[in-house]
Amino acid sequence: MKVPMLDLNAQYSPILDDIRAEIEKVFATHAYKLGPQVKEFEEDMKEFCKVKHAIGCASGTDALLLALLALNIYEGDEVITTPFTFFATAGTIHRVGAKPVFVDVKPDTFNIDPQKIEPAITSKTKAIIPVHLFGQPAEMDKIMDIARKYDLKVIEDNAQGIGAEFDDKFAGTIGDIGTLSFFPSKNLGAMGDGGMCLTNNDELAAKLFQLRVHGENPQYYHKWVGLNSRLDTIQAAVLLVKLRSLQSWSDARRQNAEYYYKHLNDIPQITLPVIHKKVASIFNQFTILAEQRDGLLKHLRTHDIGCAVYYPRALHLQECFAYLNYKEGDFPVSEELSKKVISIPVFSEITREQQDFVIQNIRKFYR
Ligand SMILES: *Cc1c(COP(=O)(O)O)cnc(C)c1O
Repeated sequence: MKVPMLDLNAQYSPILDDIRAEIEKVFATHAYKLGPQVKEFEEDMKEFCKVKHAIGCASGTDALLLALLALNIYEGDEVITTPFTFFATAGTIHRVGAKPVFVDVKPDTFNIDPQKIEPAITSKTKAIIPVHLFGQPAEMDKIMDIARKYDLKVIEDNAQGIGAEFDDKFAGTIGDIGTLSFFPSKNLGAMGDGGMCLTNNDELAAKLFQLRVHGENPQYYHKWVGLNSRLDTIQAAVLLVKLRSLQSWSDARRQNAEYYYKHLNDIPQITLPVIHKKVASIFNQFTILAEQRDGLLKHLRTHDIGCAVYYPRALHLQECFAYLNYKEGDFPVSEELSKKVISIPVFSEITREQQDFVIQNIRKFYR
């Protein structure tokens, strides 16, 4: 038996004809630049996420950059975020000239620890970027309280949490701007790159629509320096079709996660992820903490089971951020997680037989 980390063939086969038909429409009109499918997808996303504005762009990384630009975050500003995330969260803060200020995460949910945010706030702090890691929203109630108290902006990095909820509100629609990624392995993945900003603020939305086309309005007149970051029409056509299945894919992931919770909970060498009581996760990953993590990784891979380490090195210890002068030991939870985490396959189309095979092999390793 083989268990991949993600089975794109299984995901695409039932909908490939519909995708082909939608892409054919793009070829028929040659409307490659912000064609009608982009608008249609943005409208559908507004409805799906119950949000006022959705602005498509070229990637999840660009969505973060656009959000930072829209909120006037520049050189000299500080932005608080987690060191236990994908690189882009902090990379984009650096890219606009601001300084990433890290705050450790909670050991059970892997998300930013709200209690540690306040002590990190200085007169230069402009914004907080919580990340909804592995599909589970961060504690947005507490984060928004802090932001209101100190007059800070909040950008939700929701690249991994499309459709997840906190307190019955959709992740990415609670802060000032939420960002999404349509990288192929995200829960809603394009056949290439894509991203999106979500906001309920009319002014920010208008600015984001301009920033994605070099800040121009009208054409060739520039109020701001933006990016060239449109959502590609062909990708929008793909996403438009795939969005119709997203709810059922998320439901399947939740059931698959449930199965792991039920069948892995008696192995003393592993710790299962904790889902906060106010949260509905969409399980972009099922990430466990494992003793002898590297041995387990090797064992599973030897048995043709896909698994991955997200992320093996916390961001405060990355070479490119040496200038921030963080050192080992500064964020012990993140550092510990980077040594213990392993994500196992939880994709929507995984079969129970495949999950049983994963479970048996984890047991076999510790026996
Ligand atoms: C995937 C991801 C991004 C970046 O998205 P791209 O579309 O690959 O640019 C940003 N933040 C997080 C947390 C991600 O997982």
